[in-house]
Amino acid sequence: MTREKKVENYDVVVIGGGPAGLTAAIYAGRARLSTLLIEKALIGGLATYTNTIENYSGFPNGPKGEYITNEMKKQAEEMGVKFKLTAVKSVDFEGTNKVVETFRNKYIAKTVIIATGGRPRTTGAQNEDKFLFDKGISFCATCDAAANTGKHVLVIGSGDAAIEEGMFLTKFADKVSVSVIHDEGKMDCNEIAKEAALANPKMDFYWNTVVDNFEGEDMLERVNLKNLKTKEIIPVVTDSCFEFIGYLPNTEIFEGLLKMSGNKYVITNERMETNYPGVFACGDVRDKWLKQVSTAVGDGAIAGFAAEKYIAETEQFEEVLMQTKKPGLIFVYNAIDPDSRKFLSTIDAYEKSKAGTIAVNRVDVYKSTGLADRLGVTNYPAVVITNEGQVSSIVYEGICEEGFCIETFDELFKTSCKVCK
Ligand SMILES: Cc1cc2nc3c(=O)[nH]c(=O)nc-3n(C[C@H](O)[C@H](O)[C@H](O)COP(=O)(O)OP(=O)(O)OC[C@H]3O[C@@H](n4cnc5c(N)ncnc54)[C@H](O)[C@@H]3O)c2cc1C
Repeated sequence: MTREKKVENYDVVVIGGGPAGLTAAIYAGRARLSTLLIEKALIGGLATYTNTIENYSGFPNGPKGEYITNEMKKQAEEMGVKFKLTAVKSVDFEGTNKVVETFRNKYIAKTVIIATGGRPRTTGAQNEDKFLFDKGISFCATCDAAANTGKHVLVIGSGDAAIEEGMFLTKFADKVSVSVIHDEGKMDCNEIAKEAALANPKMDFYWNTVVDNFEGEDMLERVNLKNLKTKEIIPVVTDSCFEFIGYLPNTEIFEGLLKMSGNKYVITNERMETNYPGVFACGDVRDKWLKQVSTAVGDGAIAGFAAEKYIAETEQFEEVLMQTKKPGLIFVYNAIDPDSRKFLSTIDAYEKSKAGTIAVNRVDVYKSTGLADRLGVTNYPAVVITNEGQVSSIVYEGICEEGFCIETFDELFKTSCKVCK
C-alpha cells in the first residue's frame, strides 16, 4: 500500500545546507518568509570536511569549517528557518507553486533555492567504493593529513588542487607519490606549483598512470596503477590515497529541467535566477569561476534576497496590477531617468480626470525590472492598459508632458493632449 505523502506549504524551500543554502535561508528567514531548508547529509556541506578555513574573511584564526557553518546554522534558526534532514528526490517547477518531494513529504513552495553544491569526482576503479572516506581513500588533505604523519600516501591527479594539497601532505607524510596521467614533466597545475613539486624531495611521480584497482582487507593497503603506454600494472603500497580529480555538481534531479553547462552545473544570471521563474540556484552548484565558502555565501545572500523580491512582486502583480475590478492603466518608469520621471505629473492629472473609473498604478523599474518583465514591457517609460486582468496594449510613444495622445488606446483611455488637439 502506498502511503499518502504529508503536504506542507512554505514561502521558500532551500535544497542543500552548505554555506550557500544556509545564507540564502538566513536572508529569507530575516525577510519573515516561512522558510524550510532540506539537507540530505551534514548541515554545513562540504565546508565541514575542511580542517581549517584560513581565507574566509572575518575569521582570522583559521577555524574549522564546521565552526563557521555551525554559526550559520544558529543564525538561520534564530531567523525562524526550519530544517529537515532528508534527501530531495524530485522537483516540479512548472506551475506557479513549486513542488519539492522527499521520501515521505511533499513541500509546496512559492520559490525554491537550489544549493546542492558538488562532490569530489572518483576514479571509478575496481573496489573504490570499499575504501571511500574513512577506509583509506580521502578527498581532503587538510582533514586527513595529520593522521598520515610519518606514512606513505598516494595522490591521484596533477591539477592545482592535487599538487598544492600533495605539497601540504609532505609536511606530515614521509613520502607522497603522485599518479599523473600525462607524460613525464607534464601536469595540469600552474607552473609555480609544478616546479615546487618536482623539486620537493619527499615527492615522487608515476607518469602516464591511472588507477587500475584498489586492494586491502578492511583498510586500503595497495593501489595498483596502470601505465597507459606499456600497460604495466604497478602496485603501490600505501597508507592512504588522496583523490583530486575534480568535482561533480549535485544536479541529477534537475536534469532536463534546468539549463546547465556542458559539465552539468546550473546556469544562472547574476541574480541567481534559473530558467524557471521563482527558482534560484546558488553556491558551488552554479556554473561559476571561483568555488569557495565566501562566494557561496555571496551567492546565497543574492538568492535569498531575490526570492523575497520574487514573492513580493508576484503578490503585487497578481493582486494589484492584474486586478479585475476596473480597466487599468500602469505607468512603467525609471525613477532615476528625468525624462521618464517627468511624465509622473501627466499620469497624476490623468488619474484625477478619470475620477476613479480606472485603476492607475505606477511601477518603478529602478531597483528591479521584475514587474516590467512580467508585463512584457521592454522600454521605459511605457503605459500598459489592462482589462479584466489581462494586458490589452502597451504604449511606448505618445506620452508627453501635455497628456496622452494615442489614437490606438481603448475607447475608455482615448485622449489627446493640448498640443495634438
Ligand atoms: C577538501 C575541501 C577543502 C576546502 N577548503 C576550502 C577553504 O579552505 N576555503 C574555502 O573558502 N572553501 C573551501 N572549500 C570549498 C567550500 O567547501 C565550498 O566552496 C562550499 O562548501 C560550497 O558551498 P555550497 O553551499 O555551495 O555547497 P556544499 O557545501 O557542497 O553544500 C551542498 C549541500 O547540499 C546537500 N545536498 C545535495 N543534494 C541534495 C539533495 N538532493 N537533497 C538535500 N540535500 C542535498 C549536500 O549534502 C551538501 O550538504 C573546500 C572544499 C573541499 C572539498
